[in-house]
Amino acid sequence: MNHNLYLQFQTHFDQQPDKVLMATLEGDTHTYGEVQNTAMKMVGVLRRLGVAQGDRVVVQVEKSAQALMLYLACLRAGAVYLPLNTAYTDNEVAYFLQDAEPRLVVCDPARRDSHRALAEAHGVAHVETLGNDCSGSLMAQVADEAPDRTIAEMGADDLAAILYTSGTTGRSKGAMLSHRNLAANSQALVDTWQFTRDDHLLHALPIFHTHGLFVACNIILTAGASMTLLPGFDAQALLSLMPQATVLMGVPTFYTRLLDQPGLDRTSTAAMRLFISGSAPLLAETHREFHARTGHMILERYGMTETNMNTSNPYEGERRPGTVGFALPGSEVRVVDRDSGAELPAGQNGLVEVRGPNVFQGYWRMPEKTREEFRADGFFITGDLGMLDDDGYLHIVGRDKDLVISGGYNVYPKEIEQFIDELPGVRESAVIGVPHPDLGEGVAAAVVLNEGAEVTQEDITSALAPHLARYKQPRRVVFVDALPRNVMGKVQKNLLREAHADLYQ
Ligand code: ATP
Ligand code: MG
Repeated sequence: MNHNLYLQFQTHFDQQPDKVLMATLEGDTHTYGEVQNTAMKMVGVLRRLGVAQGDRVVVQVEKSAQALMLYLACLRAGAVYLPLNTAYTDNEVAYFLQDAEPRLVVCDPARRDSHRALAEAHGVAHVETLGNDCSGSLMAQVADEAPDRTIAEMGADDLAAILYTSGTTGRSKGAMLSHRNLAANSQALVDTWQFTRDDHLLHALPIFHTHGLFVACNIILTAGASMTLLPGFDAQALLSLMPQATVLMGVPTFYTRLLDQPGLDRTSTAAMRLFISGSAPLLAETHREFHARTGHMILERYGMTETNMNTSNPYEGERRPGTVGFALPGSEVRVVDRDSGAELPAGQNGLVEVRGPNVFQGYWRMPEKTREEFRADGFFITGDLGMLDDDGYLHIVGRDKDLVISGGYNVYPKEIEQFIDELPGVRESAVIGVPHPDLGEGVAAAVVLNEGAEVTQEDITSALAPHLARYKQPRRVVFVDALPRNVMGKVQKNLLREAHADLYQ
C-alpha cells in the first residue's frame, strides 16, 4: 500500500478541479486543478535537478501559493520537505544546510547570491529561487515543464518532512515527520473540528511552522476546503474577510490584537463557525473577553513540532478556558512524576507524555537525544508540565525547562502567573527562576502593565501573599514593556532569565 500523504488529498483534486483552493489578499485565485497541475510540473523540475526519493529540499521563501505547491510537489516526488523560518540569517542557514545535507535549496530571489555561496560551501547541488510574486528561477522552469503524474510509493514511516522546532528553549532540533504522522493527525483534526468542503480558512500564520503548514494546510487539503492566504497578521484584513470565511487559526496574540479592534463584535463574526488557538497558552481572560464580545468560545488545542497536535478542547461540549482539552482520537496522553516516571492521578502536576500515530520518527541525526525523549513503552516525553483535572481536561502548567526549583520545592510558573494576571492593571506576566545564593533559584516575575496603570512591586507581592505558599511568592517583580516573544508568540523565558540573572546576587 502506498502511504503517500498526497493520496489523502487526491479525491478532492480529482473531483473538484474548478473549485478555488487558495485565494490571496490581492485577489489571485488558484483552483484545485491548477494547483495539482503546477505541482506535477514542479515534480518534473525536481526530477531534472536530480532530487530523488528521500532527498531533502530546503525551502526558505516568503509565504505564497506557489510555496505550498512546492510542498505538494515534494510530497508527490517523495522528497523530504524542509521549510525554514524566513528570518534565519545566512549564519543560521549555514547550520541547517550542514545538518540537513539537502539536494536542493529554494530561496527568495533577493538572497540568491548568499545562498549560492552557502550551498557551494556545504556541497548542496542546486539553488533555485521563488519570490512571493511568482518571480524566480523555479516558476520560470515550471512554465516549460511537462506534468509528471507519478506519485512516489511511500511506506508509512517514510519521511514527508523535517521541521525544525521553534528554538524557544535552545537550538532548534529537526523533527522527522512521516507520511503517516501527518496523514493521521490531519484526519483526526478534520474529524474533531468537523471540517467539510464548505469551510473557508483565514490563513495568516507563517508556513514554515507546524501550525500554519500542517495544522492549517493539511486540514484544508484533507477536507477539500479552501483558504485565503494573508502574508501575516492583519486585524483589519481579517475582519473584512470574516463574512466570507468560516474558520480562523491563530496564536494567542492574534486574539489579543483582534480584541483591540472596535469592529470585532457579534455582527462581524456572525459567519464564522470556529476560532482556534494554539502554539502558546491563551490567557483565560482573553478567552472570556472574546466570548463576551463575539459570542464565540475560542477552541484551544495543544501540540508541538515533534508530535503534531495532541489534544483539543471539544468542538461540541465545554471549551474550558486555561485548558487544552482531551487527547485527539487515536492519541494517548498521560501525566507522570518528573522523577520516578510513574503515572500520576488527576490533579497532580507532572511531565506530559504522548503516544500515537502523530508522534514523530525522532530527531534528525540525533539518535541519542531521540532515545532520551522516549519511554520504553513508546510514549514521547514532551518536555511540557501539565495536570489532568477531574474531568480529564489537560492543563499545561509550563515547560519542564522553566520549572523553578526554589529551596528544594517545585514552583510551577503558570500557577503564579494566573494570580498576577488577574490583578488590576496587569496585562500579562512571566514567572521565572533566577540564581539565588540560599535557595538555588529564587522566584521572580516579569510583569507588563496596562497602559497608564500604576502598580508597584509591593502591590503585587502583598496581593499574592494570602494566596500562595511563601516559597512560591516572587520576592522581586520587574516591570517590562513587553515579554520577549519569538515569531510564534512564544515567551522566551531563557532571555528573561539571562536579562535578570543577578536579581538576587
Ligand atoms: P524548542 O523545542 O526548540 O525549544 P518550541 O517547543 O517552542 O521550541 P514548537 O514545537 O514550535 O517549539 O512548540 C511546541 C511547544 O509550544 C509545546 O511544547 C508547548 O510548550 C507550547 N504550546 C503549544 N500549544 C500550547 C498551548 N495551547 N498552551 C500552552 N503551550 C502550548
Ligand atoms: Mg519544544
